[in-house]
Amino acid sequence: MSIVSNSLKRIKPSPTMAVTSKAREMKAAGIDVIGLGAGEPDFDTPDNIKDAAIEAIKRGDTKYTAVDGTPDLKKAIQSKFLRENSLSYELDQITVGTGGKQVLYNAFMATVNKGDEVVIPAPYWVSYPDIILLAGGKPKIIKCDEKDKFKLTPKKLAKAISKKTKWVILNSPSNPTGAAYSKNEIEELSKVLLKYKKIYILSDDIYEHITYDNFKFFTIAQIKFLKERTLTMNGVSKSYSMTGWRIGYAGGPKEIIKAIAKIQSQSTSNPTSISQAAAVEALNGKQDFIEERANSFKARRDFVVESLNKIKGLSCLRPEGAFYVFPNCKRFLGKKTKLKTDKDFVERLLTEGKVAVVQGSAFGLDGYFRISYATSMDNLKKALERIKLFCESLN
Ligand code: PLP
Repeated sequence: MSIVSNSLKRIKPSPTMAVTSKAREMKAAGIDVIGLGAGEPDFDTPDNIKDAAIEAIKRGDTKYTAVDGTPDLKKAIQSKFLRENSLSYELDQITVGTGGKQVLYNAFMATVNKGDEVVIPAPYWVSYPDIILLAGGKPKIIKCDEKDKFKLTPKKLAKAISKKTKWVILNSPSNPTGAAYSKNEIEELSKVLLKYKKIYILSDDIYEHITYDNFKFFTIAQIKFLKERTLTMNGVSKSYSMTGWRIGYAGGPKEIIKAIAKIQSQSTSNPTSISQAAAVEALNGKQDFIEERANSFKARRDFVVESLNKIKGLSCLRPEGAFYVFPNCKRFLGKKTKLKTDKDFVERLLTEGKVAVVQGSAFGLDGYFRISYATSMDNLKKALERIKLFCESLN
């Protein structure tokens, strides 16, 4: 009998992390691989944020903190929600965790019972279904079409809801497609959700600050009567290039926030004291570099989308945000190329083309792959040339 628990057998390791480590291994073996698999900004954490962490160490902020966040950080988060999203939360409606991922993990562990359904629009961020499975719940995957820009439609949402639905997850801008919901699109989905008073909504806003072409970010808790059953999750990882600092947070109903703290008190005790001090500076300090960085990402998005659409056999939508694109590679699948699935496509692209990307099926939608363009323009130019040559070799 295996030592491994039954609940662990329900899940798999994160496929995006698997690609990143495979590319790392190839690089270490001296192979010239370009990694477009990782979901993190290539920019460094700004100096004012690093300095705040150094100050915190010198000051002696090196002890356990309150379980779900220091009062200073909670106040900074409270101001952020008010300033940027017009959302007003009490301090006991705010929680801080070790990355947005832990906030989600805690939230679902604290609320999902065996058999509860969680509606997840696909393509989805890889961790949602596995966290739900670990919590004993049932992911209800709804495939969203390319013709709908990979977004959930009100009709599909209504069809997915059952008596067992406990949560609906929304992620805008999306990992892996970059698609972002406009205010109008969120209002349309809300009309469905307003009818079901017992369903909770998890809004994953982690890419809030990475949007293009004057897109106006809007989050579902801004809808009257939905705020009281929405957990709005966000974090400093992507907006402030702080993936390694591990700080995520959420605002939401007191009952959920309290339950999250209970789990955290029996697991990690608290997020790192030093990272919390850095996150206070991130949220309260200067914000000008956010727009500058979004502009660099926009130039890369434009280059990647245009280059992909010039490659015979590939097609790619131009997304509103995040730093991903989700090109369609269906025309390369079939007898002629001997590639059955998108996984075969990305594996051969890695071994022959020396470019690491992630297959669409890892995100719940076959026939696509995800490119993260959070890397230098030089790297992107080289990678797109390699993808072109690889596709030509299949044509
Ligand atoms: N949500 C989405 C959609 C993500 O892509 C990520 C990270 O890749 C996270 C949440 C978690 O981010 P973190 O745990 O670094 O805050």
